Amino acid sequence: MIEYKNVGVSFGKFNVLSNVNFHVEKGDFFHIVGPNGSGKTTLVKTLVGLLKQSEGTIDINTKNMGYLPQKLNLKNLIPMTVQEVIYSGFKKPKLFPSKSECQLIKDWLKKMEIEDLFGHSMNYLSGGQQQRVYLIRALISEPDVLILDEPTSALDPSFREKFYILLHEIQRNNKTTIIHVTHDLTDAIKENCKIMYVDQTIKFIGSYEDFNKFEHRGHHHD
Ligand code: ADP
Repeated sequence: MIEYKNVGVSFGKFNVLSNVNFHVEKGDFFHIVGPNGSGKTTLVKTLVGLLKQSEGTIDINTKNMGYLPQKLNLKNLIPMTVQEVIYSGFKKPKLFPSKSECQLIKDWLKKMEIEDLFGHSMNYLSGGQQQRVYLIRALISEPDVLILDEPTSALDPSFREKFYILLHEIQRNNKTTIIHVTHDLTDAIKENCKIMYVDQTIKFIGSYEDFNKFEHRGHHHD
């Protein structure tokens, strides 16, 4: 579904990523981990087409992607309500959502435990509430591939666990492929996921069990 062959990204003389080779299969739950500044966000940006690779080829076999960026540039935006932000994530939004579309938005707000925010202005929400709204926006069009760059960074710990349960449900029920950048695998891990450790290049790719051995050997410190 997604294949990277010898991909490199550089900014001027600075090589952020080189020789990146991996593939993602349909239905994978794919975690991307690695130290700060190791190129994870850069990699994700090449996936969603926000950044062009300097070398190599990227084959992506789907058009319907949902993306939650790490940095939500919410300052200085035109004031938008929660409902408007979510509706902009629909595949073919019209000027106004229909009654059934409004209901769908409300159902999602309920699932994310923010049901009373429907008509609220985004500017007055806390970081965690905004993050939940953007998550709904990424999820609501039922994308084939969902790309989440540190989705829980602003979420409170009590919601984090629920959030991952929801993600696994989505993956199971809709056969959604999930690509997930994270600092903390604790809540996210379930059987049958794949883990990729990035540090300028791919240092490890495999199961969680093998990843533990890899970490134990301290390979990523060399
Ligand atoms: P991570 O997500 O793993 O923390 P990033 O992909 O954000 O890492 O960044 C990797 C490196 O690339 C960092 O050293 C960062 O400073 C650099 N970098 C990212 N974007 C740019 C850019 N637009 N121009 C120059 N350097 C960049």
